[in-house]
Amino acid sequence: MPQKPIVYDAPTPERRATTVEAIQAEILERLIYSVGKDPIVARPHDWLRATILAVRDRIMDRWMESSRETWRTSHKRVYYLSLEFLIGRLMRDAMSNVGLMEPVQQALKNLNVDLGDLINMEPDAALGNGGLGRLAACFLESMSSVGIPAYGYGIRYVHGLFRQEMSEGWQVELPEDWLAHGNPWEFERRESAYEVGFGGHVEPVTDPDGEVRQEWQPNEHLLAVAYDTPIVGWRGARVNTLRLWSAQPIDPILLDKFNSGDHIGALEESSKAEAITRVLYPADSTPAGQELRLRQEFFFSSASLQDIVRRHLQQYGDLGSLPDKVAIQLNDTHPAISVAELMRILIDEHGLKWDYAWKLTKGTFGYTNHTLLPEALESWPVALLERLLPRHMQIVYQINAEVLTEARTRVGFTDQQIAAVSLIDENGGRRVRMGQLAFVGSHSINGVSALHTELMKQTVFADLHKLYPERINNKTNGITPRRWLMQCNPSLTKLISERIGPDFLDDTDKLKGLLPSAEDPGFQQQFAAIKLENKRRLARLIKDRVNITVSPEALFDVQIKRIHEYKRQLLNVLHAVALYDDIRAHPEREWVPRVKIFAGKAAPSYWNAKLIIKLINDVARVINNDPAVRGLLKVVFLPNYNVSLAEIIVPGADLSEQISTAGMEASGTGNMKFMANGALTIGTMDGANVEMHKEVGADNIVIFGLSTEEVEERRGRSEVPRSVIDASPRLREVLDSIASGVFSPDDPHRYRDLVGGLYDHDWFMVARDFDAYCAAQAKVDAIWRDRSKWNAIAIRNTASVGFFSSDRTIRQYAADIWNVPTA
Ligand SMILES: *Cc1c(COP(=O)(O)O)cnc(C)c1O
Repeated sequence: MPQKPIVYDAPTPERRATTVEAIQAEILERLIYSVGKDPIVARPHDWLRATILAVRDRIMDRWMESSRETWRTSHKRVYYLSLEFLIGRLMRDAMSNVGLMEPVQQALKNLNVDLGDLINMEPDAALGNGGLGRLAACFLESMSSVGIPAYGYGIRYVHGLFRQEMSEGWQVELPEDWLAHGNPWEFERRESAYEVGFGGHVEPVTDPDGEVRQEWQPNEHLLAVAYDTPIVGWRGARVNTLRLWSAQPIDPILLDKFNSGDHIGALEESSKAEAITRVLYPADSTPAGQELRLRQEFFFSSASLQDIVRRHLQQYGDLGSLPDKVAIQLNDTHPAISVAELMRILIDEHGLKWDYAWKLTKGTFGYTNHTLLPEALESWPVALLERLLPRHMQIVYQINAEVLTEARTRVGFTDQQIAAVSLIDENGGRRVRMGQLAFVGSHSINGVSALHTELMKQTVFADLHKLYPERINNKTNGITPRRWLMQCNPSLTKLISERIGPDFLDDTDKLKGLLPSAEDPGFQQQFAAIKLENKRRLARLIKDRVNITVSPEALFDVQIKRIHEYKRQLLNVLHAVALYDDIRAHPEREWVPRVKIFAGKAAPSYWNAKLIIKLINDVARVINNDPAVRGLLKVVFLPNYNVSLAEIIVPGADLSEQISTAGMEASGTGNMKFMANGALTIGTMDGANVEMHKEVGADNIVIFGLSTEEVEERRGRSEVPRSVIDASPRLREVLDSIASGVFSPDDPHRYRDLVGGLYDHDWFMVARDFDAYCAAQAKVDAIWRDRSKWNAIAIRNTASVGFFSSDRTIRQYAADIWNVPTA
């Protein structure tokens, strides 16, 4: 039912004062009246809460004004649907973006509280696994910064990504508890709650006008309740909303059960509903395949679409203008069921004709693909969809019938190609392919780096691309320069401002202005002094967390990211062992002192990834304690990698390891964070590394290894990796020592199978790329020995990072996919 339209005129919002005195008074007021604590007994967490509330108050007016403005101007809204948002801490981000860092710091100082301590106490919101979730968080901030009216939609997981601890070098997963002390950023919106159904059956009903409609009658119902968090753009340009859904039981059912004395039944109902949003699936790059996961996907898709359609009708009163006023971006296939859900809402609930509804749907959705691996593409058994979402299954069949008809009428389309574009995979148990559904239901399908987009056209979506050649486009990922340069590296930001002025803060392309300073010895010294300071801080953190002493003068060689065979942490460890052998064999040589720093979580069910963590720790123990190494090489594994840890490690890195098997990393964004902070990259021609190489120039990045085509070619040919290993005495020595238990005397065979895999198939080309990698590392050493050259390259990296700002990425989405203006 259309609601009364909301009319906003434009009263000038009252802004809260931002003087030190006003902020100080308000923090105290919040402490007493909102937290309920006497300042004399207040604990650090109480101060944190009071401070967040005071900061939040200074965002509220802008938040409301941003929303009013969209109603007033009738601007198109963008909705970013993502099952993951890896936001990290919000307080520093918010303060910095609205220019409150200094007054808040001073106000707290007057109250004898240290702002830095409070910042470190804020929980790190880890509602995501890795790059895909972090991208969603960077995009939210950029959409606010470039002035796009946007909403992020996702799930309010009670437990985010597990906390990682080490037990004798093995990963142990512990539950994460970001909501334990409450969440002062969020607003619960009980009035924005929607019913989401599952199961049941579909019934044809005849309308009074004689039209037959299908009506889905679910036999399970639950409530999606909205929780809103403000997302502030740079300089407070705009404040958008991250709306996360929480699942709750529908009260009447519970009351019925309670009243009839079935207390246990009522509680079961309630915990069953809440289970949907209880925990984030901890797998990265592989689909979950569990019914609960499909329930999560439909739950948040349905709630979000109901909300979007409700808001649209409230403002515009008709659905025909949907594609003109609404853009919905699907972050990977996790929300792909939205295509069928929007069709159901348009046809079954609003009585639109199929063809018209299909046109509106395609005009509204865009889909971002994040992976090429066939085994990593989401698909659901037809039987499961039929049981859980019977009406959606019918709609999928009907969409498929149309796609297949289109394919059949296309001259030159073979049966094999027709099978490839089908939404139903008929090989070995019928399954619905979510990538195909997202593709056909969208007017735009984008990859996340130039290379990845080209490969998408050639592989996963080759035949759909032939059928709809205008749809695939590229949007190379980016990172927000606010969090990943200005906030995490304030000293470097200040130095750059002094050198080229502050314009780069609003336009990262202006960093190019640093290029002439790259050769300036005075500037190099200043740049290097800041890096050293950041390395000292990182060295202290390493000492605190894992009790390893490292020299800040050594080369800090860093690989931090999810642990995955395609990311090849194993290749990096093999290099550590090779260096270890070399240092002991040639004590007379001048070795470049190195610290190899690793961090990252492995999916709990991914055995080889967990074994690689154990290997890193085993190798670390032996090398760090061998006096023959004389401290020239240290290996460190920092537990519990998350956004907050990255914010400390990245500014302290000299060398950034981006060494995935070519063709397997869709883009990477970690690579961009390091580049911004003046690290050199050692990497393969994969993902966005290719574009980094182009932006910074071949002399300022160390590239090695097989190309995508060479990897493809080698996998196709039945070459025996053993011959590769036999041809490299250095590699053989390394593998022999690991396989024979040199690093695992307590269990000499621990790594036999891991090493065996390299002899057997070496799917990830670790053995094949080993010699090239070692040669590239030797090149890194050579550059390090010429410190002036190193510093010049580091400066050129920071100077060339402009393209990788997520503001640029978002402007491209806005212009090419969403058709919305940007500031
Ligand atoms: C940036 C980031 C990632 C992505 O890193 P890649 O190196 O691109 O895989 C993953 N996790 C966290 C916490 C990040 O900040």
